[in-house]
Amino acid sequence: MSPQKSHTPQYRPTVGLEIHVELATASKMFCACTNKFGDPPNTNVCPVCLGMPGVLPVMNRKAYEFAVRVGLALNCNIATYTKWDRKGYYYPDLPKNYQISQYDLPLSSNGYIDLPVDSQVKRVGITRAHLEEDAGKNVHDLPDCTGVDLNRAGVPLLEIVSEPDMNSPQEVMVYARAMRQLVRYLGVSEANMQHGHMRFEPNISLWIFDEAETDGGHYTPIVEVKNLNSFRALEKTVVFEIERQINEWQADSQNYRMDKMSKQNRGWDDVKEITVFQRHKEEAQEYRYFPEPDLLPVEIDEAWLKQIRSQVPELPAARLERFQKEFGLEAKLANLLTSEKSIADYFEQAVRAGASAKRAANMIQSQGLRLANERGTDVGSLGVWPERLAQLCKLADADKVSATATVAIFEAMMESEDSAEKIAQDKNLMQVSDASELESVVQQVLTENTKAVEDYRAGGKKSKKARGFLLGQVMQKSKGQANPKVAGEIIDKKVLG
Ligand SMILES: [Zn+2]
Repeated sequence: MSPQKSHTPQYRPTVGLEIHVELATASKMFCACTNKFGDPPNTNVCPVCLGMPGVLPVMNRKAYEFAVRVGLALNCNIATYTKWDRKGYYYPDLPKNYQISQYDLPLSSNGYIDLPVDSQVKRVGITRAHLEEDAGKNVHDLPDCTGVDLNRAGVPLLEIVSEPDMNSPQEVMVYARAMRQLVRYLGVSEANMQHGHMRFEPNISLWIFDEAETDGGHYTPIVEVKNLNSFRALEKTVVFEIERQINEWQADSQNYRMDKMSKQNRGWDDVKEITVFQRHKEEAQEYRYFPEPDLLPVEIDEAWLKQIRSQVPELPAARLERFQKEFGLEAKLANLLTSEKSIADYFEQAVRAGASAKRAANMIQSQGLRLANERGTDVGSLGVWPERLAQLCKLADADKVSATATVAIFEAMMESEDSAEKIAQDKNLMQVSDASELESVVQQVLTENTKAVEDYRAGGKKSKKARGFLLGQVMQKSKGQANPKVAGEIIDKKVLG
């Protein structure tokens, strides 16, 4: 027997992603309990979400509308008739011992999203998006025991399943981030990763088309990695799995194939940064789905659908394109402004209030977002309302304040209700651009500094320095309020003629 030669095969990663999104409704999916993260354990519970016998669930209409809104934004077919199903499993965080979900009739299916990848449009298919209820949470940081917090049990959960259309870790990340941006734009979820509002489950395999193989190509067995709760973990998982599957294939290329090995579930070890085997699919539980007898099917008529459709705002990709066309912004800046709906809204309101688009965009980028980031808030909550940002932009556009001064004025506006102009006056930051006003100051400076005037006029080495000195004197005499550009022009005219 000759030892098998090890070589790196040609391969293409094939990844589909399931995303669980907690919807930001006021109450839970099938009861009136508050849907809120961070309350003391087991304070937002009732007989329905505790799974007491004899209680009846009632569907949260708002959650259903939120879910349909996402389906519409993802270009899905919206089912006019759906029903609920019980998915049975036995976990301490699921007191009913089943989860109410949608099995064979999801509320939306067959959609897609277009993503910008390397200046190209990458289309990822959406298999389905359906509603279910979240489970509770086991609490492991108690002394000598494990607790269960059921505040999360029954929170509306939207599961979005993609087609296996992503072919690199980069595409997976663009897709995942686009989904977070989308649900935030739609106002259906805060999508706060720290609060567990979004969890990822990638399905990963490789299409191997090795030249040394004669069968044209084959897939490695699918690996599903469960319950990833950060973008970082998602990216590292996909990168790790690709590498691991290549190695497995190289070790046993005849048997490490989808048709010879069943799908397996793995978990992500965040400390060791590896995936860990959990079980093969044939060992997976039988969920014993059956129709939920306590809930009516949902029928959605044209009027209701129309109403939900009217709640879908302009979506991020369309807005990005419009910002470039309508406001002449470069792609990078337009991308930043449309990254969150709140930033894009803030920008557009400022422009509508009279700010020039470029000035407003730059001010939001260099000051608004920086300060919002420092203070852990969003740009709209800094106290500089769009109308007030417009005031400041107008002052700068009219050369009444310098670009440098706008920084101090913006910061002062956060602490004060005064107008931008009043603050600029109080802080002596108004700039004098009026030539006739500056003329007398310049004349005075020239009269008092004849040596510098001579040096400047003489040209040569000292000339540039002398001009700088004269301008400095004008700035000093005007207490920094002269517009340096205009003052410089007057000096040039008076000295050089
Ligand atoms: Zn409840």
